[in-house]
Amino acid sequence: MISFIVHGGAWNIPNDMIDAHRVGVTSALRIGWKILEGGGSAIDAVEQAIRTMEENPTFDAGRGSFVNAMGEIELDASIMNGTTLRCGAVASVQNIRNPITVARTIMEKSENVLLTGLGAVRFAKENGIPTCKNDDLIVGRELQRWKQLQVQKRFSAKDAFKGTVPSDTVGAVALDANGMIAAGTSTGGTPNKYPGRVGDSPLIGCGTYADSGIGGVSCTGYGEAIIKVVLAKTVIDYMEMTGADCATAATYGINRLKSKVDGLGGVIVLDTQGRPSVAFNTPRMARAYRTSAMNADVIEV
Ligand code: ASP
Repeated sequence: MISFIVHGGAWNIPNDMIDAHRVGVTSALRIGWKILEGGGSAIDAVEQAIRTMEENPTFDAGRGSFVNAMGEIELDASIMNGTTLRCGAVASVQNIRNPITVARTIMEKSENVLLTGLGAVRFAKENGIPTCKNDDLIVGRELQRWKQLQVQKRFSAKDAFKGTVPSDTVGAVALDANGMIAAGTSTGGTPNKYPGRVGDSPLIGCGTYADSGIGGVSCTGYGEAIIKVVLAKTVIDYMEMTGADCATAATYGINRLKSKVDGLGGVIVLDTQGRPSVAFNTPRMARAYRTSAMNADVIEV
């Protein structure tokens, strides 16, 4: 059994951006699926699918991300191997096109889990990962948004999830032919965020979790709320403790996010049998999945 699911953020995606989201999650799904079909690892599928979405300026990850209150891009990402429970993450990193690759390298080549800012860039350079100018990551759409936000008195992270301001964090969860489940998440965070602000995405257990004996989860949404309910691990724990199927656990997680901290967001989940499931309480969520029990991709926005 192999199975793969990706997401491109949960929010009120406007009609004129639906196609771009559909195309973006479809190409990420196909890249990961090809790796899994060829006998590749869940980690490779997750990393490569997320890299594609980091390169795609449609999403709030890598190039095209929101800029912070200083007009700069700061990126967060994490990845986890559900068989070894090894994991790696970067937070508030600049000058990096593909933070998911730095996160993977931290997981595989260091004793640490999370590196931030300049330390993460230093580690990337030491390990031959290319750096770039921050300006290479900024797109006109986001500069415009930043300028508009400067005239508002106050714009909170939570405000970003109420209106039509996007939240296109990306994530992926894979089950490979060896039974390994891996999960990963990458984001530029929230628009106009306070410099140094870190959301749920690089925090293991909050934005990402994988355990090959239970399942894997990647989250998106209002990070400050997701952190408070430790959303990814909450979904995994619910499956483990109650024996619930992944659809029930995904819904449980989102209901808890809402009832405990009034949070908005979404999760993608796979279980050990590769059953995919999605739950969200935002108007829309971009996602795509496929399993070896199906003969076509499912793409939904
Ligand atoms: N969860 C991300 C954050 O708060 C944002 C998102 O998913 O859109 O940084």
